[in-house]
Amino acid sequence: MRNETAITPTGMKDVRVEHVKLYIDGEFVETSSKETFENTNPFTNEVINTVSSGQREDINKAVAAAKEAFEGSWGKMKVKNRMEYINRIADLIDEDIEEIAFLESMDTGLPISQTKKMTARAAENFRFYARLVQTKLHGESYPLDDEFINYTLYKPLGPVGLITPWNAPFMLETWKVAPALATGNTVILKPAELSPLTADKLAKIIHKAGLPDGVFNVVHGFGENAGAALVAHQDVKAISFTGETTTGSTIIKNSADTLKKTSMELGGKSPLIVFDDADFDQALDAAVWGIFSFNGERCTANSRVFLHKNIKDRFVKALKERVVNIKIGDPMDPSTQLGPLIEKNHFNKVKRYIEIAKEEGCEVVQGTVPEEVKEGNFVPPTLLLNATNDMKVCQDEIFGPVMAVIEFETEEEVVSLANETRYGLAGYVWTNDIKRAHRVAQAVEAGMLWINAQNVRDLRIPFGGMKDSGIGREGGHYAIFEFYTEPKVIHVAIGNHHIPQFGK
Ligand code: NAD
Repeated sequence: MRNETAITPTGMKDVRVEHVKLYIDGEFVETSSKETFENTNPFTNEVINTVSSGQREDINKAVAAAKEAFEGSWGKMKVKNRMEYINRIADLIDEDIEEIAFLESMDTGLPISQTKKMTARAAENFRFYARLVQTKLHGESYPLDDEFINYTLYKPLGPVGLITPWNAPFMLETWKVAPALATGNTVILKPAELSPLTADKLAKIIHKAGLPDGVFNVVHGFGENAGAALVAHQDVKAISFTGETTTGSTIIKNSADTLKKTSMELGGKSPLIVFDDADFDQALDAAVWGIFSFNGERCTANSRVFLHKNIKDRFVKALKERVVNIKIGDPMDPSTQLGPLIEKNHFNKVKRYIEIAKEEGCEVVQGTVPEEVKEGNFVPPTLLLNATNDMKVCQDEIFGPVMAVIEFETEEEVVSLANETRYGLAGYVWTNDIKRAHRVAQAVEAGMLWINAQNVRDLRIPFGGMKDSGIGREGGHYAIFEFYTEPKVIHVAIGNHHIPQFGK
């Protein structure tokens, strides 16, 4: 196994992808076990670099450093000073947007036009939480009478563990790191093993921003080693996890012995419902974007599209025209709309689901992968026509560019079909009947519903799912009040407070 590679990708002379180390206590270090793993490029399936593979001892060191930093300067810092650091991180992200997007696309296969937008949002995550904590993170007072008052404070938890997936890695990491740090916690980040590059870049940015040693740590490595050790550690006060539902369930079990707070952002199989009075062109744009952007590797993807029978044939005809025209290619090409999937195993899994769809009786319509990019993990945009909601391909999260199309006739029927799933993350309703729009949006069991809109995000709103899609919410004041802090009550006698006279 190579210890160090230095690739200079064409197009960005200054970006060098070298061996990635762990970031512990303000230093870039090798794992104590000296183990490394190879990180591959989904476009070429060649090795990009090697990565230090963190183990339990590395987690122990990172947690000890985070604990010391929490008990030291970070924990005692004035809010205003802490927010200066948080805003500096945002500025440094902005300075390097091109490079971060480049690394992200190389590592994940996500098209560069899409990773650039996500990187800009990552900087905004830090600014948003700096503002929110400064203006909103305060307690309440409860005067009982002239003689007694109670007041609350929202205190940070201590060292927190953040475990993140490989889809949209940089954005999702910052979505957790920003509120965790802004509220005064210290962090141990365990990024996905399939996408280490931008987590390493985040460590370099935070190092440059000058945060005290130990406040932010990154331990790369595999879930069953580094991830499991983080979850089991006594001094880690909370785990914020985004990933697959089965992993979330394992983490909850493994965190029970140390009674940790956990937040779970898990999988989805989200419905998009189009009634026959909907704005046809807009609904079509939204349906196509919602599953084929981010290579379909998106938790809120509309992987089940329900079409009213009166418009189904026309909509399907239009979908067929769209899928063959989606531009498949090099993720670094700004005109590319669909890139390669993250890795060979995932590629094979998605391809297998398309075979299952055929076995289950779907008509499969796909775009074509251009000959010159055949080496990459490309699955063309795929429509599964004549699907029924009970099929395996309509129940399992495929996590690729695969849309199942299901016909419906009545509102009652479509709500019931939309809800016949273990998941409940997102949903989309397209109709110009305002009453029906709200009725359906309220009846669909999902944490987030969009009416006549695609997946627009507002950082203030709660983000997350119900059923097997998650527990808890991220975003806005939910993150700062309900997860990364805990309320503490101070009861104060300010007058002649009566105390019962026992045994006197
Ligand atoms: P995954 O569950 O395989 O891995 C996620 C992370 O968990 C990785 O860092 C992995 O190393 C770690 N991990 C694995 N086993 C672990 C263990 N036993 N203990 C501790 N950590 C462990 O998920 P993935 O394949 O990286 O991501 C795709 C999934 O994420 C999809 O299901 C998608 O829907 C979901 N997702 C959800 C949201 C949301 O907000 N709800 C957002 C993005 C992705």
